[in-house]
Amino acid sequence: MHINKSKDLFAKAQHFIPGGVNSPVRAFRAVGGEPIFIKKADGAFIYDEDDNAYIELINSWGPMILGHNHPLIREAVIKAMEHGTSFGAPTSREVEIAELITHMVPSIEKVRMVNSGTEATMSAIRLARGYTGRDKFIKFEGHYHGHGDSFLIAAGSGVATMGYPDSPGVTKGTAKDTLLAPHNNIEAVKELVENNKGEIAAIILEPVAGNMGCVLPREGFLKALRELCDQEGIVLIFDEVMSGFRLAKGGAQEHFGVTPDLTTLGKIIGGGMPVGAYGGKKEIMDFVSPAGPVYQAGTLSGNPIAMAAGLAMLTHLNETPSVYSDLNRIGNKLVGGFQQSLKKLGLNYTINHLGSMYTLFFTYNEVYDFDSAKNSDTVLFGKYFQAMLQKGIYLAPSQYESLFLSTALSDKDIEKIIEANEASLIEVFTDKK
Ligand SMILES: *Cc1c(COP(=O)(O)O)cnc(C)c1O
Repeated sequence: MHINKSKDLFAKAQHFIPGGVNSPVRAFRAVGGEPIFIKKADGAFIYDEDDNAYIELINSWGPMILGHNHPLIREAVIKAMEHGTSFGAPTSREVEIAELITHMVPSIEKVRMVNSGTEATMSAIRLARGYTGRDKFIKFEGHYHGHGDSFLIAAGSGVATMGYPDSPGVTKGTAKDTLLAPHNNIEAVKELVENNKGEIAAIILEPVAGNMGCVLPREGFLKALRELCDQEGIVLIFDEVMSGFRLAKGGAQEHFGVTPDLTTLGKIIGGGMPVGAYGGKKEIMDFVSPAGPVYQAGTLSGNPIAMAAGLAMLTHLNETPSVYSDLNRIGNKLVGGFQQSLKKLGLNYTINHLGSMYTLFFTYNEVYDFDSAKNSDTVLFGKYFQAMLQKGIYLAPSQYESLFLSTALSDKDIEKIIEANEASLIEVFTDKK
């Protein structure tokens, strides 16, 4: 396999783009080697500039739940394009998608569309602060909520991948209002609430964490947070940018049966176009301008092309429950195969898995929070990543990411991934000895 064109492009990109990429993890720094540049993608496959084909296990970091270039979405976008690309004025599709979202995610009574997950979480925190009149909020170590200043404290995703504790450029004034708790530790959360009585506007979390690798909530954790928030008048925000429309039609909140006050959405909601949203209880959402005093706006928010893509995606998910049973079957088959290989090779690595999200952690420990995730051997992961890439499997270039399955994966693709996984593990270990 050669990647000459990608190498040339990356060399040139270094001159004009910081680090050669428009989002840090894409640069492959955590796994060594150089990033491949993508020419096109279709179904379960992505193709680089040198025409190598790879089976997709990232799917644009989540959005492509139906695989790439799905005809329903492609046709909706092309049709919308014929009528212009942006109006900066309300359109019927925005009403339609808002109604559909409130139907699919019943805790959302009203919703505001934005352009990214980052915008959604920033806006949701501002809203929670405006609504409660309080300044502080609690986030969890290793959770990622986009790159808004107040979230870049012990954040997951690229921040974890690059090993940054927090980011320069975030002022002390901002950072002091972000309180940190370890994931899955309700006692620590209670203590923070006790020590900051009446000052906490919101608790925000990924109900299934995906940005420190896939880490599930322990039994009762989400419910305990719900009860605590009710007692203390705190706004509970589920950041479902990753899990929304993925773990179930109604996201993780449907799967676990715990209802947040606000939900942030992104990724799948735009069908691959830049879309995010935040929504929740009417009473809170009516604080958003122009209904209420909390300001939030966007020139391209509700963009007609993006809404067409999102509407096509959500309509299909809403009307096709088999998507979720298919994803569960695919996830179970893949992870089941991985587990068999690990057993055969005598490796006790941890696989965290739910539905179409999973992470193979290079550690023998249970992974239930950021510290336990960090026990993983990231050097081994880097070798494994490269071995998989050589075998035509495209993984997230970091140990600290969840992988995302799509309905486009055939049984044959899954078997190929399982074989590649076993061969890669053997390679990594032979190499180690
Ligand atoms: C990806 C992600 C974000 C940020 O979304 P962007 O569209 O990249 O700004 C926020 N929260 C979670 C849980 C995410 O996975």
